[in-house]
Amino acid sequence: MRILVIEDEKKIADFIKRGLKEEGYAVDVAYDGAEGQFLAKTNSYDLILLDLMLPKVDGLTICKNLKREGIATPVIMLTAKDTVEDKVTGLDAGADDYITKPFVFEELLARVRAVLRKKSSKEATRLEVEDLALDLITHKVTRQEKEIVLTAKEYALLEYLMRNAGSIVTRTMISEHVWDIDFDTFTNVIDVYINYLRNKIDAGHVKKLIRTVRGRGYILKGE
Ligand code: CA
Repeated sequence: MRILVIEDEKKIADFIKRGLKEEGYAVDVAYDGAEGQFLAKTNSYDLILLDLMLPKVDGLTICKNLKREGIATPVIMLTAKDTVEDKVTGLDAGADDYITKPFVFEELLARVRAVLRKKSSKEATRLEVEDLALDLITHKVTRQEKEIVLTAKEYALLEYLMRNAGSIVTRTMISEHVWDIDFDTFTNVIDVYINYLRNKIDAGHVKKLIRTVRGRGYILKGE
């Protein structure tokens, strides 16, 4: 789990970072709104802790910009003002929760856990890599919102690649997870199916998501 902290008060930011790292989270910190917004757009975070009053770009604007660009990363607002109005404004801007400063770390941690739990239960039904989406319940696959019809085997292979997005999967791993135990690993069936998937997923798109890693296997990734 990777968390972005956007907070200009260095003491608070470092306190949060230290605490979250001790809990096993990977933590990046931005000390102003512009840097924070940049990081939020370029990296993939599981959660953003966002201060309201920030130099360069304020927290509400960042929150609105991220939501407008379709970045669905959950946001917890850090607000110094404990007024109902501020909370409503924050939630209206797309924040998932808020916490009022000063707070004890345990309270922040409890909210972080709650938001991440909610996120993973939502995610459990849907896998996304860039503009490619796979619905685990309906088995509907889309790229740029357009439906792609797959055979059961192609679907299973794509689901496996998407579950491991960003990591290399070897032919052995694929055969173990997508084919049954009688599968003959000396055939080129996997390569054939990868090609079927490429024709359906990547053909006609500038950005190719399925790549060959020579001598090792395949990787599905955006960047
Ligand atoms: Ca501040």
